[in-house]
Amino acid sequence: MQIDTIENNLFAVTLNPLLRELISRFDLECPEDGSLLLNSLKDFLGEHVSLCPTCRSISRNIARPFYEIGSRLLKTDKDFMRTQFINGEYGEAWFKGFGLMMKGVEKYGIRIPFVPAGPFEVVWNVTYKCNLKCKHCYEDAGNKKLPELTTDEAKQVVDILSKIAGVGLPALSFSGGEPLARRDFFELAAYAKKRIPYISIASNGTLITKDVAKKIKDVGVDYVEISIDGASSKVHDEFRGIPGAFEKALQGVKNCAEEGIDTCIATVLHRNNFAETEKIIKLAKELDVRFMHFNYIPTGRAKAHIELDLTPEERLNILQTIGKEIINLYLQAKEEELKKGRSDIKVDRFFSTCPQYACVTKELSRQVGQKFMVEAHYAAKKGVENVANFLGGCGAGRLYCALEPNGDIKPCVFFPTNETTVLGNILKDNYEEIWDKNPLLWQLRIRETLETYIMDGEELGCGSCPDKYICGGCRARAYSYFKGNVKAPDIGCIRNKPLWEKIMKKHL
Ligand code: SF4
Ligand code: SF4
Repeated sequence: MQIDTIENNLFAVTLNPLLRELISRFDLECPEDGSLLLNSLKDFLGEHVSLCPTCRSISRNIARPFYEIGSRLLKTDKDFMRTQFINGEYGEAWFKGFGLMMKGVEKYGIRIPFVPAGPFEVVWNVTYKCNLKCKHCYEDAGNKKLPELTTDEAKQVVDILSKIAGVGLPALSFSGGEPLARRDFFELAAYAKKRIPYISIASNGTLITKDVAKKIKDVGVDYVEISIDGASSKVHDEFRGIPGAFEKALQGVKNCAEEGIDTCIATVLHRNNFAETEKIIKLAKELDVRFMHFNYIPTGRAKAHIELDLTPEERLNILQTIGKEIINLYLQAKEEELKKGRSDIKVDRFFSTCPQYACVTKELSRQVGQKFMVEAHYAAKKGVENVANFLGGCGAGRLYCALEPNGDIKPCVFFPTNETTVLGNILKDNYEEIWDKNPLLWQLRIRETLETYIMDGEELGCGSCPDKYICGGCRARAYSYFKGNVKAPDIGCIRNKPLWEKIMKKHL
C-alpha cells in the first residue's frame, strides 16, 4: 500500500475528527470583524487586523498554533505565504482559496489530494458562438443552436459564484465558443471583476484588435490565453478552418502583451503539429508571453479525429521539452537568489494541462539534484512544491469545475455534455449540495479507487501507479477511451503504453 493511501486511512480515524473540531472553533462570523477564519490568518501572517477581544483571544490561542503546526507539517514557506497573501497583487484570490481549503478540511477532513469546500476556479463556456471552425473544438462550438443565458441570468450566475461556500470563488475564466463573440461580454466581465478577484479569458484571439485589447485591460481582465496551433499560418489555419486566422491570433497576442496584460499562447499539441513545439515555445519567448500546452482529449469534435492523439512517447517527449524550459528558469532563479538575495526571473511560464507534467518535472529536477515539480494547469510557485500531493494533479470536480452556456455544471470542460456528466444547473439547483454530495464528483476526487489492469503479468493503470497522488491521469481522457469510466487508465501515459497499443489497434 502506498504511503499516501496509508496516510489517508490514518487521517480518517485519527487526525480528521480533531482538525474538524479545531477549525470549527475559529470558523466564525463575527458581527464586528467579519470572518475570523480569514482574519486569524492575517493575524498569523503579521498583518495588522483590528479584532474584538473574543476574536483576538481565539485567534492567538487556537488559530495561531494551528497555522504554525500546519505550515511546518506541510513545509509551507511562511515568507512565500506573506508575499502572496499580503503583498501580492492577487492576495484576495489567495485568501479566498485559503478559506475554501480550510472549510474543505472542516467539512471533508484532510485528504490526499485535498478537497476544498468549493472550486478554486470555474471555467465558464459562456457561449457556443464562434467565428472559427476548429477541428478539435471540445464544445463543438458554432454548430450548436442551444439556449444560452441572458445577461441578467449570467449576472445571477456571477452572484452565486461570488458567494460559494460563504467565501466566494477566487478565479473565473471565460471560455466558449469564443467568449468575445458574446455581445454583452464586457458588461459581464466588468460585473464579474467587481465580485471575483481573478478573471481570465480563453480566446481564439482573432477578435482582439488594439481597441479590444485596451477594453480587456480596462475592464480588469487579469489573464488572456490565446490559441495558436502552429508557428506559421500553414498548420494553424488548416486546423482552425479559416484562412488568415493565424495572423489575427498572433496580432491578438501582441496587442494583449502591448497593453501589459498577462498573456499566454495556448497550443493543443497533436500528431499534425507536435513537430512545431519548439518553434511555438520560441515564439512565446520572443513575444515574452507564457506558454501552455493543452493535452489532446478526444471529446466534442476532437472525438472524430482520434488519430490525432499523440502516442505515449510523443506526449512524454513534449512534456520533457516544456519541462526542461521551466527547470532551467527555476535553476537560473535559484542561482540569482543565491548571488543577490532575490530574483526577478519569472519561473511560472511553461505549463501543461497534462497531469503527467508533475511526474516529468519531478524526474527532470531530480536529475539536476533539485526537488521541484510543476502540477498540471498550475503556475510553478515557489513554496508549494511540498504540497504537490495535496494539490494532486487532475483537479476536475475538486479544485475546479466547468459551466456550460446555459448554466449546466460539469466536472471539467473536457467531459462531453450528457445526462451522466451534467451535475445540475447553477440557476436551478443548489451548487453547494452538488459539490458536497454528487457521486461523480466523489469518484473523481478519490485516488484509491482508480483501476489497475493486469496485462502479461504486468500491473498497469493509474490505480497501481506510485505517482497517482501528484498526477491521477486525465479523467476526461479515461472517460473518452473507456466509455464513460472515470476510474479507467489514462492511456496517453508512458506507464500505460501496452494499454494504448491494445486500444488504438481497434481505433486506427
Ligand atoms: S499511470 Fe496514471 S497516475 Fe500514473 S503517471 Fe500515468 S497517468 Fe499519471
Ligand atoms: S479531466 Fe483533469 S487533467 Fe483532464 S483536462 Fe480536466 S482537469 Fe485537466
